[in-house]
Amino acid sequence: PFRWNRITDELNPVDLKTDQPHSARIYDYYLGGKDNFPADREAAEQALTVVPNGRVAARQNRAFMHRATRYLAAEVGIRQFLDIGTGIPTSPNLHETAQAIAADTRVVYADNDPIVLTHARALLTGTAEGRLAYLDADLAEPERILNSSELRDTLDLTRPVALSLISVVHFLPDSADPYSLVRRYLDELPSGSYLALTHLTADFAPDEIGRMAAVYGQRGVVVNPRSRAAVERFFDGLEPVEPGVQAVSRWRPQDVDDEVTDAKVNMYGGLARKP
Ligand code: SAH
Repeated sequence: PFRWNRITDELNPVDLKTDQPHSARIYDYYLGGKDNFPADREAAEQALTVVPNGRVAARQNRAFMHRATRYLAAEVGIRQFLDIGTGIPTSPNLHETAQAIAADTRVVYADNDPIVLTHARALLTGTAEGRLAYLDADLAEPERILNSSELRDTLDLTRPVALSLISVVHFLPDSADPYSLVRRYLDELPSGSYLALTHLTADFAPDEIGRMAAVYGQRGVVVNPRSRAAVERFFDGLEPVEPGVQAVSRWRPQDVDDEVTDAKVNMYGGLARKP
């Protein structure tokens, strides 16, 4: 069951510290969302002086998520999604995109940030026919997520599921063995399931991404940009959907904007099917 009570029943509800910037709300601001405050907007504008293309990257990453989700729902017929690293549900979020195509789509969301948990109620307003669940959990705990009642009561693991890891795996260091972790989730899913993944890279703009990683590091957030080959490894053993791992803006774009270069986007994305 949904654990909203964990927050509302506590004597001291979660302090959103809206006078301090938060990375998830900064990202929401870049996407044009409404869940951000003056401190977030100031920090976001300041961050743009270090990473001037941060907004372009955020929007292109998001657009990939929408295109991949539509492809899965409309062309493959996927009706079940497991989205880990959900973020603040800036609209349209994954369930809105998928349920607009098939109202009976079921989505399990998971994130380890309390800010996202406080927004989970907004995440859980889907269609009457579909089902949504939210889980406060870490990507690095596959057993917990896979065995949770939230997941087991929402998804049918005998039928295909799309595992959606959008802009989250780069928060896992190599020491966490991210390849085995992703494999652990896929092992639990039947043939015909999919992996959709986007990942930060320093391949295109090493200096800028180096500065960005330093800024994140100062705030205690370690990011691990990976090369194309290292990102492709997450898809080992899967059947790639054309055009394979590409800068997210090159993955089945709807319109091509010459201003949106790889060096501004700095994110790889890919989609593949489990045989
Ligand atoms: N998927 C969304 C949000 C990306 S922001 C999008 O692409 O638009 C990255 C999100 O991943 C944040 O909400 C952060 O809290 C979450 N996250 C980071 N590390 C995580 C981990 N180890 N487990 C679960 N969530 C994580």
